[in-house]
Amino acid sequence: TFILGIDTSCDDTGVGVVELAANGQVHVRANRVWSQTVHAQYGGVMPELASREHVERIDSVMGQALAEAGLNVTDLGAVAATSGPGLVGALLVGLMYGKGVAQALDVPFYAAHHLEGHIFAAATEAELRAPYLALVVSGGHTHLFDVPQDGEYVLVGATRDDAAGEAFDKIARLAGLGYPGGPAISEAALLGNPDAVAFKEPLQGQKGFDFSFSGLKTAALLAHKAGARPEDLAAGFERAAVRTLVRTTVRAAQACGRQTVVVSGGVAANRALREAFAQTGLRVVFPGKGLNTDNGAMIALAGAAAIAAGRPPGTLGESATAYAPLATPPAPP
Ligand code: ATP
Ligand code: FE
Repeated sequence: TFILGIDTSCDDTGVGVVELAANGQVHVRANRVWSQTVHAQYGGVMPELASREHVERIDSVMGQALAEAGLNVTDLGAVAATSGPGLVGALLVGLMYGKGVAQALDVPFYAAHHLEGHIFAAATEAELRAPYLALVVSGGHTHLFDVPQDGEYVLVGATRDDAAGEAFDKIARLAGLGYPGGPAISEAALLGNPDAVAFKEPLQGQKGFDFSFSGLKTAALLAHKAGARPEDLAAGFERAAVRTLVRTTVRAAQACGRQTVVVSGGVAANRALREAFAQTGLRVVFPGKGLNTDNGAMIALAGAAAIAAGRPPGTLGESATAYAPLATPPAPP
């Protein structure tokens, strides 16, 4: 089955096609992303402009994805689109487009959760079978989920302030390293001395599994004002951020008794983070190339997982939601 996946949750128009084989194996056939550039001049994403850009681009991104996959639209056997969380106006564009395609073709439609998409972006690298721990580190989330059973997500920790990617972006901007901040910091860090500026690892000694990045941001601001080199700021911040992410995740894996950890979301592209996780002795699974930051293929992969698990498709009445927690609350006693 060829599954179309669409993500328009923020400022990327993503359309991908995934092939789900009879034996359950998944293969990305196409993954096209149009990253909006209009927002750069405002220093942040402008929701209304994001919606309009999705409307203008989605048809052509869809055409590119089908061409890359070497398919006709009628070859598609299912459609998945992100319904939340994200910017409602932006989400609606991809959601309505996906529903339209599904209805026209008379194929099943799946409303996908954006974070489930990020997690299943790793499904091309290894079979994602519960139990495992999932760390989603992106521009808006730093969430640690225990997945005791497929489709069940128990939130074991989350950021108390900024998301990890947000901290990379803000510190990059402060240091004049450009946007997006993640890759910029990562590159600058190679030329810096991580010991030049003191970055205290956040929440040391905590019993729980939360994250915090605001202290690192303040430390970066103070050091910047005191004249620290951008490369040194980048190196020191990156090391502290990687340490807190890895140590907290390792402790959570031990507490939950999990040997497998899925690390996904834009920050999972970070080289230092990948190297540090490789040293932990855990089985760590990352998304493949082009699947870390927002894209359509990861949504098709979430759809493939739903189909493989025999989950019933959604209805065309599915609507977009800005706030949509993935965690399944514990059953009442
Ligand atoms: P969310 O999924 O929480 O709604 P988002 O979709 O905006 O947020 P993603 O597209 O998953 O986020 O990730 C974007 C973030 O990833 C940005 O903050 C960016 O700086 C960060 N990022 C990208 N590449 C790297 C990298 N190599 N190192 C660190 N961070 C990175
Ligand atoms: Fe995302």
